[in-house]
Amino acid sequence: MTATPCPLCDKPASAAHRPFCGPACRDRDLLQWFGEGYRIPGPEIAPDGLDSTAEPD
Ligand SMILES: [Zn+2]
Repeated sequence: MTATPCPLCDKPASAAHRPFCGPACRDRDLLQWFGEGYRIPGPEIAPDGLDSTAEPD
């Protein structure tokens, strides 16, 4: 029986979570699937570097 390394981190896959090494990588892969239609909001960087927190006059 050949052990397939985790596709996400190349650690030896766990039998309980194959093909991943553990629940962390399995969940990460799951999130990537969700990411197809749902983007996790992250810090937005203004292209101009403008300060969006500046109050309107
Ligand atoms: Zn892994």
